[in-house]
Amino acid sequence: MNNLILSSLAPGVEGWPWWAFVIIIVVALVLVMFIPWKKIYNRKNRRYHQEIKYKEKFVEDKEKENTKRLSKEDVVKSKKKKTDNFFDAAFGNYNTNGSKQAIKVETLIYVQEEPDSCELCRPFENTVISLEPYSKNVITMNEAIGKGYHHAGCKHVDLDFINTVTILPKNQWTDEEKQQRFELRLKQYKLENEIRSIKYELDNCADKLKREELKKKLKKYETKIEKFCEENNLERNEKHELPFISDLEKFN
Ligand SMILES: [Zn+2]
Repeated sequence: MNNLILSSLAPGVEGWPWWAFVIIIVVALVLVMFIPWKKIYNRKNRRYHQEIKYKEKFVEDKEKENTKRLSKEDVVKSKKKKTDNFFDAAFGNYNTNGSKQAIKVETLIYVQEEPDSCELCRPFENTVISLEPYSKNVITMNEAIGKGYHHAGCKHVDLDFINTVTILPKNQWTDEEKQQRFELRLKQYKLENEIRSIKYELDNCADKLKREELKKKLKKYETKIEKFCEENNLERNEKHELPFISDLEKFN
């Protein structure tokens, strides 16, 4: 009787053993009970509504821009905005990072100007740099470093830049003035280097006569650097004149 009903419902199963039906029923029960159908449905539904919302916003923005197209400038601007919207719609929609980034405030700094900066750092003085890996509006720190900023021995200081709060200072010195100061700094480094090597020689010399000679030479160079710093309004750094300092310390 049972087999008759089954064969009428699904022809070909009348020869199956009874336990095959039990397995099918158990699998069906597991599918119904343990798979979170509701969650899957909600997620799909949410994504669908989100897509609709983005599309509506995109169309709305596009309409707004169309009404704005009055002058040539407006056309250029709206074209630019249109592409932004396209990226928002394309990436913001499918990439969860997009929405996170929109909420996050960009960490920005600006570079304090130095009177004797080198030509690598000069372009970045009193300009805003983003510390984020990507930025739409300003250069990122990685890009600035790639262009030479913060090289070994760089003295520049980065200060916090808060949008709409921080007032960006104007450069006080011209590039020529900075170049002049920079060259003086190089001359000072050269003198410091000279003093370091005399001191090194003195440390490794046993000959009495030669030592006297070296001491005189050292005195001469020390007077020279003192005078040079005084004349050019530079600060003498005696730590730089020690014979056993690292390359990094020579410039800091
Ligand atoms: Zn620098």
